[in-house]
Amino acid sequence: MERIPRALTIAGSDPSGGAGLQADLKTFTALGVYGMSAVTSVTVQNTERVVYAKELPPELVYDQIKVVAEDIGIDAAKTGMLSGEEVILAVAKAVRDFKIDRLIVDTVLRSKSGYSLLKDEAIRVLVKELFPHALLITPNIPEAEVLCGDRLVKLRDIELCAKKLLSMGPRGVLIKGGHMEGDKAIDVLYTGGDEFHYFVGDRVRTKNLHGTGCTLSAAITALLAKGYEFYEAIKKAKDYVQGAIENSLPLGKGHGPLNHMW
Ligand code: PLP
Repeated sequence: MERIPRALTIAGSDPSGGAGLQADLKTFTALGVYGMSAVTSVTVQNTERVVYAKELPPELVYDQIKVVAEDIGIDAAKTGMLSGEEVILAVAKAVRDFKIDRLIVDTVLRSKSGYSLLKDEAIRVLVKELFPHALLITPNIPEAEVLCGDRLVKLRDIELCAKKLLSMGPRGVLIKGGHMEGDKAIDVLYTGGDEFHYFVGDRVRTKNLHGTGCTLSAAITALLAKGYEFYEAIKKAKDYVQGAIENSLPLGKGHGPLNHMW
């Protein structure tokens, strides 16, 4: 049998199954990749809100990555909710020790309901310790605004912020336009030079968008694990997420999850 591609998510747990490592594992499976998970934090949340979260000890996070890296192997990995500084340091050490070279850093800062998923004082550590190891970082507009320290109103503001973020060390920056006004959502990809790539999608009018960011970064990770080229992996991942949103599920009283089985 041909070897199945292997992807790891380093992320928080969402018991409602819509976001976090549960969304990532569903995405990996839907895209034909073997999924593994290293838990960083256990959240108590449903489709309405995050009630609270408990961060795991950093050595526990490091050891989860270690055992799967040494045994099964990792073709690509992503980070999601990292919670705090100590966990980031443990993840950065594991990324170096186990030479994880296809790493997607999803810059998770806050849930849609406003709960902090990364302590403010840890943002600096995320930038310093993980950005230089990332093949791609995937902030949405509110996250990019925090990271760049600027308001992003026009497309030009987003492009300038992408340039600034690239200078912080990742090899690519994808600023997601889901929070823009209007009927189209434009994601801006920047990998250096004078050129920007734009991914334009039709906005789907639904409130069931829980875990959209997690799903996109997981899909990119899965497709990179399968050997797709960088640009192709992002393009296909965008198509995957568009389908999962168009078929998203009216479950729960709040923001329902995406559908990985349409
Ligand atoms: N919970 C966890 C564990 C997450 O990693 C994330 C996002 O990355 C969320 C919740 C937020 O999901 P959403 O903003 O789509 O509600």
